[in-house]
Amino acid sequence: MPTVQTVRGPVDVDDLGQTLMHEHVFVVATEYLDNYGRGAWWDEEQRVADAIAKLNALTAKGVRTIVDPTVWGLGRYIPRIQRIAEQVPGLHIIVATGIYAFEELPHQFEHRGPHLSPHLPDPMIDDFVRDLTVGIADTGVKAAFLKCVVEEKGLTPGVERICRAVARTHARTGAPITVHTNAAARSGLIALDLFAKEGVDLTKVVVGHAGDSNDLDYLMRLADTGATLGMDRFGLDLYNPTAQRVATIAALCQRGYADRMVLSHDTACFMDYFGGAWEETRSAVAPNWRYDHIHDDVLAALLDSGVTDDHIEQMLVFNPKRYFS
Ligand SMILES: [Zn+2]
Repeated sequence: MPTVQTVRGPVDVDDLGQTLMHEHVFVVATEYLDNYGRGAWWDEEQRVADAIAKLNALTAKGVRTIVDPTVWGLGRYIPRIQRIAEQVPGLHIIVATGIYAFEELPHQFEHRGPHLSPHLPDPMIDDFVRDLTVGIADTGVKAAFLKCVVEEKGLTPGVERICRAVARTHARTGAPITVHTNAAARSGLIALDLFAKEGVDLTKVVVGHAGDSNDLDYLMRLADTGATLGMDRFGLDLYNPTAQRVATIAALCQRGYADRMVLSHDTACFMDYFGGAWEETRSAVAPNWRYDHIHDDVLAALLDSGVTDDHIEQMLVFNPKRYFS
């Protein structure tokens, strides 16, 4: 049986069980935290305890694995995740490498590699490969997948370099890819086109946030490449209400696409986008944007819409297992 790397080490893919394919534990930028959070809105012990409680509650719903695409640009900090994983023994946490940038490269890469000559290898690739094969920093934790972004502005020079580096790391390691896309801008098509030209196995790509769209033609075009649709923002009603997300998944299941979708919320235990006011903002603006919305509400709604138990098993268990196999 193939194994997949998790925060606590390699796990048989058969043990992944019900998997939420796009959840963050924390979205907290280290530089922001170190300069403005500590001594103000950030209490390390309280936040860690809160995360342990929330993730243990999630395992009580039957979820066995979360896939966390928090990379550079979103505040990846593995030692804190390790601490939490030790206290949530029923949950596998799979972490990522890559860069989250909508337009520009981090300056640390800007003046190196292909910038100097198009023939030079990108130093990003070595960093990504190291995360996947040696481990992240000195944690011993290996990433198991790659993350990049194609947003509204499409392939800006910075985004294109990151996406190509991700594609070439995939070619070297076989690691699967999750790409954040903008459904309104239909940027999933741009991402898949670039990946195809780079020789990426598109069955190893999740088009993140595809579920913000209800445009079946767009979604089927993506899925027909072999890629998997990330129906992964349940509870973010601002982008697409739950009832619409459910209807779209039901329509795609009816057309035979249950093997091309995965489910998730894209939420977090804490996110610094609102300073310290995460819980207040989340509960006021998107009260269902929490880890258990799918198990508490969405699965029943899917069944009511004609989606079968087999389809749900496919989306929650088999498709994630195939992605990591
Ligand atoms: Zn996300």
